Amino acid sequence: MLVEESPLARQLAERIIANGPISIADFFATANMHYYGTRDPLGKEGDFITAPEISQMFGELIGLWFADIWLRMNKPRVHFIELGPGRGTLARDALRAMAMVGLQPDLHLVETSLTLRLRQAENLTGPTWHEDVSSLPDDAPLFIMANEFFDALPIQQIVKDGPIWRKRMVDFADGRFVPELGREIPLEIVPEKLRFATNGSIIETSPASVRVMGDIAQRIRAQGGVGLIVDYGYEGVALGETLQAVKAHQYASPFEEPGERDLTAHVDFETLGAMAELQGVKLCGPIGQGQWLARLGLVERAAALGDVHPDRAQQFADERDRLVGEDAMGRLFKAFAFYNPDWPEPDGF
Ligand code: SAH
Repeated sequence: MLVEESPLARQLAERIIANGPISIADFFATANMHYYGTRDPLGKEGDFITAPEISQMFGELIGLWFADIWLRMNKPRVHFIELGPGRGTLARDALRAMAMVGLQPDLHLVETSLTLRLRQAENLTGPTWHEDVSSLPDDAPLFIMANEFFDALPIQQIVKDGPIWRKRMVDFADGRFVPELGREIPLEIVPEKLRFATNGSIIETSPASVRVMGDIAQRIRAQGGVGLIVDYGYEGVALGETLQAVKAHQYASPFEEPGERDLTAHVDFETLGAMAELQGVKLCGPIGQGQWLARLGLVERAAALGDVHPDRAQQFADERDRLVGEDAMGRLFKAFAFYNPDWPEPDGF
């Protein structure tokens, strides 16, 4: 697609021509706002598929995981919050499982995309929508869920350039968006162990993710409750670029067709955890999604469903393998929980 054919690309190009290169985070945020705002990207016909779309067992086990904590706390009134709920499939499956033990929380969805809010409205009854976490209710403990949400939040990158570090920017040249080196970064703000990395090394940070993490951890500390993040990511500030674009289930360049490809970056769990701990909550994990789901009984659940529906036994076994398989989602995806120190330690870690 040529830049002239996309209004968003044209707008970005004009901005860069008028004011100079923009940050990676700015490019990322603008592209994804358009991307999610204009389509439902999930499923076979879309660009990517997520765990709740692969199997109902994923949301059900998560619902039971929250319900277990609720029972151990003697059934307080709670709100169920989901950040970036996609089609609402996880919430639907989790709420159905929660209801089996009598847990019926109010439902709050943090979602910026109107297109996806419409899908969520089809799948869920009576949710309250929020643009961001600042308007979440403050009158009861929170059960907060985020599956493949943090990877969609913008990142910044810095690049080693000879003896110094520079911010990475996006420029527009010869009709294309191209990464470019920007202003120098003071050495003091580069993590000490990485300061002397080799020429061309990249470090990523996600200020937007750290801000959301701080806000929700502070809520959990003040109001009670637990949060669960499932996403692909790594532990500890590291060298290397994870910024990527996905289109039609294939990796693609993140700098082409802004707003037409899903931009993501791996989640830095150590930095999120450090921010959460600063707010006074306790942490569990991260551990591999496969290990965590297996400890919650996914293998037994798949077998039980197969016994009840013998014609679909193979389907449930396949879904199980995709969720826990080391070469599928089991290892790259991680489960990571944070909880109020007066609440019981969550299961599965
Ligand atoms: N959790 C769902 C969807 C993951 S896709 C699933 O597992 O299937 C990412 C979701 O986050 C989408 O619903 C998208 O619209 C939403 N999203 C992306 N950026 C956001 C932002 N800045 N604020 C709120 N929601 C956002």
